[in-house]
Amino acid sequence: MDVSTGTPPTARLTTVEDYAPLIGARAVERILAKAARLRDLHVVHINSTYYGGGVAEILSSLTLLMNAAGIPTGWRVIQGRPDFFSITKKMHNALQGAEINLTEQKQHIYEDVVFENAVRLHLGHDLVIVHDPQPLPLIRHFRKKSPWVWRCHVDLSKPNPALWSYLAPFVERYDAVVLSLPEYAQKISPPQRFIMPAINPFSTTNKELSEAEINDRLEHYAIPTDLPLIVQVSRFDHWKDPQGVIEAFRIVRKEVDATLVLVGNVATDDPEGQEVFQSICQQAEERIRVLSVQDSALVNALQRRAAVVVQKSIREGFGLTVTEAMWKGTPVVGGKAGGIRHQIEDGSNGFLVETVEQAAQRIVQLLKDPGLRRRIGAKARESAGARFLMTRLMEDWLDLIGSFEPHFRLRGDVGA
Ligand code: UDP
Repeated sequence: MDVSTGTPPTARLTTVEDYAPLIGARAVERILAKAARLRDLHVVHINSTYYGGGVAEILSSLTLLMNAAGIPTGWRVIQGRPDFFSITKKMHNALQGAEINLTEQKQHIYEDVVFENAVRLHLGHDLVIVHDPQPLPLIRHFRKKSPWVWRCHVDLSKPNPALWSYLAPFVERYDAVVLSLPEYAQKISPPQRFIMPAINPFSTTNKELSEAEINDRLEHYAIPTDLPLIVQVSRFDHWKDPQGVIEAFRIVRKEVDATLVLVGNVATDDPEGQEVFQSICQQAEERIRVLSVQDSALVNALQRRAAVVVQKSIREGFGLTVTEAMWKGTPVVGGKAGGIRHQIEDGSNGFLVETVEQAAQRIVQLLKDPGLRRRIGAKARESAGARFLMTRLMEDWLDLIGSFEPHFRLRGDVGA
């Protein structure tokens, strides 16, 4: 298909070349050479939501960048009723260590809905990449002619053993498993690769904004700017510890006055979000703003204007919101969990905390010291730019896809 025909004048794909000022011409050349070897390979990603959460954020940029580099890459989303997503959210929680009551009835709903999706998907791609537990069993329903990769984004440091033993037979069928960190590795036979996510610096969430554009977004939501802003951006989810952020803020205000903004969205595959949102909303007041909206420009504006961004997660697969704030040069106080520990070097480009009190103490320290905010912010920007831009993620995927090359050659689809 030629999507350039009839393209609206405002629509233009970001290309790898656009990253040259950020990553250098040699890196651009290297990535494009790797992409050229895999040209015309038909790849598909499958997950369970088009928006809300890091996976959707990554796929919306990665799939377009791959297409722009000549690798036709699709993105499919599985469908399910609320009972399906209620079960898969419990699985998500249990993979991060929570208890689960996995009855036979729940297993049937899960497996049946995935089967129905398998029927509708019509997959005939050269490579299939399945994200997270929701669509995991899809693989059972295909006579596998091409490599399948399971990409799990959650914090697998302590998965619930009962759930893992139920899911493991599905995982075993895959040709490779991609996890965010080495410490999430499991005892399974498919090869495991570790790839950390990344951000698109040109997206609505991350692109440069003028002061006027930032003011406009904040005014639109009546967010007061008379006092320093402390911001947490995240789905309304207990693992993100919004309650802990409010408690830390109450301690902070005894020393320094400020405004707390908690902004979140509710992903379509996350039925618990509404409940968490309501419990947090009850604590809203003049200086504690709680917003449930899907507005990437607001996220961008808040991460830029904040004096401190907080991401006080208890478990965190990676934590794109941390990268986003660091890229904007804003100091982050992050929970000492999962991927946040790999992004923040404590005391150098941000702060890592384990308790409400520690979070409060670091926030106060940053609020009182503009020089410290500048130093930490500058280091944060530098490390996010060096390690977490989308081109690095694309290159990691190209290397992984390239490792299947003998298989593609064998089929006579690529190369030759
Ligand atoms: N996000 C957003 N609006 C919100 C909350 C989150 O656009 O109200 C985006 C956020 O900017 C980030 C992603 O959703 O890109 C969240 O990814 P992260 O890895 O931090 O957490 P996840 O939700 O995947 O657990």
